[in-house]
Amino acid sequence: QVTDALAKEGPRSPSYDWFQTDSLVTIVIYTKQKDINLDSVIVDHQDDSFRAEIIIKDYSYIIHLGLSHEIQEDLSVRVVENVGKIEIVLKKKENTSWKRLGHPLENHDSLVPKKGLHYRKCQLISKEGVTHDTKLFCLMLPPSTHLQVPIGQHVYLKLPITGTEIVKPYTPVSDFLLSEVKEPVILNNKYIYFLIKIYPAGLFTPELDHLQIGDFVSVSNPEGNFKISQFQELEDLILLAAGTGFTPMVKILTYALTNIPSLRKVKLMFFNKTEDDIIWRSQLEKLAFKDKRFDVEFVVSAPTSEWNGKRGHISPALLSEFLKRSLDKSKVLVCICGPTPFTEQGIRLLHDLNFSKDEIHSFTA
Ligand code: FAD
Ligand code: NAD
Repeated sequence: QVTDALAKEGPRSPSYDWFQTDSLVTIVIYTKQKDINLDSVIVDHQDDSFRAEIIIKDYSYIIHLGLSHEIQEDLSVRVVENVGKIEIVLKKKENTSWKRLGHPLENHDSLVPKKGLHYRKCQLISKEGVTHDTKLFCLMLPPSTHLQVPIGQHVYLKLPITGTEIVKPYTPVSDFLLSEVKEPVILNNKYIYFLIKIYPAGLFTPELDHLQIGDFVSVSNPEGNFKISQFQELEDLILLAAGTGFTPMVKILTYALTNIPSLRKVKLMFFNKTEDDIIWRSQLEKLAFKDKRFDVEFVVSAPTSEWNGKRGHISPALLSEFLKRSLDKSKVLVCICGPTPFTEQGIRLLHDLNFSKDEIHSFTA
């Protein structure tokens, strides 16, 4: 019974140790968990403070130290997944022997419920127009940060605007649609890409749009409740996106097409006001041509007279045919994201069409 009580309180606390060579200091964290990967580890070294956060379900294990000696900017992280061991390798600035790792700072060596957001300043590397009002922003993480945004999760961007810090959530995009237009060399983990619509009367996006290349934006730790385990044994993946609600679908689509052997079909229904609003239309069409498992359907709510595709808002007429499974009982997941009324209406329609809660993932605030 005592064990039961402990189990309810949360996971077992990890522990850590460290060792050194002439040039390196390695911090080893024993998480005592199996499902740890590189996404679970967030490391920052800013000024004198070294902070590592290991995400374990709804908890964070924190290493937070004022290091006893200076280190070089770049650090590396390795995870031995089957034993849940994490190694963070720091490069000494001087080849001297360290007597101790450092002095403890707030929450050091403790397992705390996940709360609050930690930010680091990232540099704007590029900004390119995608449609008339959306842009692709590339931000670079500091060299002394390790952070990967898991599929289906978002981060918060923070900027000071007229004396107040304003924070808004954004969902990073990557890889496949970018790789058509970018050199693969820049697709390593140091860069985070965002597709962001600029609202001229908006609070945050005009400020973001005014940033110059080289300026800084603060980026938070990832958040979100999408779980990759939802893909297990998946056969049909259906994506319903409206406007910038397309952003979470980008990584989901890439991941599904490359990592799920059971997958038979991925279908994207992409709702926009006008043809000109469609993000990455030709890339999506090319992908559908190249990969027979992928279909894309564009629906426009305020079309020009030349538009001969589907029209209107999300409706039973548009969905019922589109949502047919590739086989009678195939395992299906429907992901939905867009303006709140779109998402709410979509969920209602999906329930009416007998999709269960487990078969629907909605991205909301
Ligand atoms: P806001 O100031 O919020 O205004 C937006 C629009 O609404 C403007 O046209 C404004 O004039 C109008 N408006 C504001 N207040 C009112 C009002 N009271 N009455 C009528 N109209 C009003 N967006 C992206 O572009 N890309 C993403 O990847 C992305 N990811 C997101 C992830 C999550 C989890 C969530 C919740 C949202 C995401 N968003 C994304 C939306 C983003 O967070 C912002 O809401 C968006 O960028 C608008 O911010 P803003 O401050 O510029 O505009
Ligand atoms: P938009 O105004 O350009 O509309 C795109 C389409 O959404 C329309 O063509 C229509 O089909 C549908 N739509 C809009 N209003 C509707 C309504 N009242 N009822 C039914 N359908 C409606 O969209 P936008 O400006 O690109 O906005 C995208 C939205 O997606 C924002 O609200 C943003 O916050 C949200 N978003 C959420 C996430 C998330 O993860 N939660 C991620 C990205 C974007």
